[in-house]
Formats: sequence, C-alpha cells, structure tokens
Amino acid sequence: MAEVLVLVKVADGKVNKATLEALTIARSLGEPAAVVVGAPADVVETLGEYGATKVYAADAEELRDYLVAPKVTVLEQLVREASPAAVLIPSTQEGKEIAGRLAVRLDNGVLIDVNELAVDGTATQVVFAGGTIVKSRVTRGIPLVTVRPSSVTPTPAPTTPAVVPVSVTLSDADKAARVVERVVEAKGARPELTEASIVVSGGRGVGSADNFKLVEELADLLGGAVGASRAATDSGFYPHQFQVGQTGKTVSPQLYVALGISGAIQHRAGMQTSKTIVAVNKDAEAPIFELADFGVVGDLFAVVPQAAEEIRKR
Ligand code: FAD
Repeated sequence: MAEVLVLVKVADGKVNKATLEALTIARSLGEPAAVVVGAPADVVETLGEYGATKVYAADAEELRDYLVAPKVTVLEQLVREASPAAVLIPSTQEGKEIAGRLAVRLDNGVLIDVNELAVDGTATQVVFAGGTIVKSRVTRGIPLVTVRPSSVTPTPAPTTPAVVPVSVTLSDADKAARVVERVVEAKGARPELTEASIVVSGGRGVGSADNFKLVEELADLLGGAVGASRAATDSGFYPHQFQVGQTGKTVSPQLYVALGISGAIQHRAGMQTSKTIVAVNKDAEAPIFELADFGVVGDLFAVVPQAAEEIRKR
C-alpha cells in the first residue's frame, strides 16, 4: 500500500486533535506516514497510537527557528522521494499556507477544508455554512488536501512506527521569516476550544461581558471550554478567538451547551456535528431548538445558576 503523508501539528508539546483526525482519515487511504518538522521526537508514541506506521522526523535545531517555508521544503522532498498516494495537512491557518505553497512547488492541485477523502481521491467539502456539499478531485498530481478540523472522530489503531530521520538543506528563501521571540500565552485551566469534549457557549442573550462569568462558571464546573456566538464577540462580551461558527472555530464536542444563542445557520456551521446539544433560550421558537437534543425554554439567568447548583451537589 502506498504511503499517505500526514503533516503533524504540535501545540504545547502535544500532537493536536486535527492531526489525529487526519491520521484517522489517512488509514482508510493507505499507510499513514506522519511528518514531524522541528518538533520534539517524543510525539512518536502518540502518532503510533493513531496508526502511523512510519514517522518522518526532520528535527534539526534550525528547523525550529523558521516558520512555514521549511515545512514546505521537507514535504516537497518527501513527496518527490516517497511518491505518496496523498498528502493530508490539518486545516489550520498555517496548514492552508503550507498546502498552497506546496501545490505551487509541485505544480499540483490542492483542495482546502476537506471533510472526507475517498480512496479514489474524491474529496467532500461542506460549504456555505453547511448548505452545500461539494465533491471534487485533484486532477493534476496527487490528492493534496487540508483536512477540516472535527470532520471525523480520531480513533486509535495502535502500532509501532518506524522512525525515519529526514535531513534537509534550507535555502535562503526558506530562511526568509524567522522566529525572533516566543511569547507563551497565559493559559487558564480550561481546555482548548477545538479540542474540548465539552463546550459551553454564550450568545447575545447573555447580555454583557460581565454576565459571561455565568457561562465560564458552568464551563468550569463541567471541565469544558467556553465558546461564543458572533453576536456575543462582536458586542465585546467575549474575545473573538472564542467565536464558534462559519467565520469562527469549528467544534465537535461530546456536549455543546448553547446559552442565549438563537441558532443562526452561520453559528450552526461551527457546532452542528456536536454529539449532544443542549440549548437554553427564552424563545420557544428559536431555531436552536430544531438542532438541540435537550432544550430548556427559560431565562438563562434562572436556569444556569440552578443547573450549576445541581452539578455542585454531585
Ligand atoms: P441572536 O440571534 O440575537 O440571539 C440571541 C438569542 O438569545 C435569542 O434567541 C433570544 O431569544 C435569546 N435570549 C435573549 N435573552 C435570553 C435570556 N435571558 N435567556 C435565554 N435566552 C435569551 N454567527 C456565529 O455565531 N458564528 C459565526 O461564525 C458567524 N459567521 C457569520 C458569517 C456571516 C457571513 C454572516 C452574515 C453572519 C455570521 N454570523 C455568525 C452571525 C449570525 O448570522 C447570527 O447573527 C449570530 O449567530 C447571532 O448570534 P446570537 O444567537 O448570539 O444572537
């Protein structure tokens, strides 16, 4: 079986969920071969757990000091040497840039934000906030795709990968943008929004930035992340990086709690694949109830404190 290259994204020393999802898709297409560029080698075990039979490790010290270009160079070299069946890259901002640059270097087609990839190379993309499904195929070269986060549930398939060191020579162009300083973001105890198994989101109905403490309190009691609708972020109730939806993050947790969110199509686009959806809204006609597994018609300022009290008792 031909190899399927998966570019690994490491955040805070851990392989991120989007990479594990890409590995899960890669397993249905061929032999998943993970590509680690400039990250610590101790991620190999995790990659093996999710079915990577091989790990290409380009871990020279200088690779850590440069941004996107060296990753493109490593992938280009591997595609030329290993002739893989496909290349899968997590669809982050960085991943999309890498995919675009790699496509130019290889004179290859590229598809972005792919939800599924069939063995024959047919890719499925969900566009227009979930309103349209597009099937397409790369017709020049191999399938080179970025995988949209939360498209599949990452499933383990333990194996022991062979680690293959990769050495590359960086050109001057590769070194055009260099990391000069790393500022570690002050992090709370909450899980990362796109990785969390529970997300509690607030909308315009929450009413103010101050009231968002109620959303945070419920999220903390459940061990979840906090999300927000665009109306909430645009109103300055919560920072934009926590926006869920078409123009925000895509989440697919086990439990999604929507507080004071109407359920507009653009919001649904970012959370509709959540396993269980609970909505609290004072309007019984709110569209979110069409999607919710459990709904409470009521004032969130009455319902949430009661729910929190019950959870504390357990
Ligand atoms: P509203 O629609 O105003 O709903 C507030 C809800 O709160 C209402 O249903 C109300 O009944 C309820 N409520 C009020 N008070 C209470 C209370 N005390 N207790 C309980 N319930 C209460 N939106 C996103 O979320 N994410 C996106 O990524 C996104 N991208 C967009 C992209 C484009 C191109 C466009 C045009 C729009 C986008 N939007 C997005 C905006 C989207 O269309 C909606 O305007 C937005 O989702 C509405 O947010 P909301 O549900 O919080 O607010």
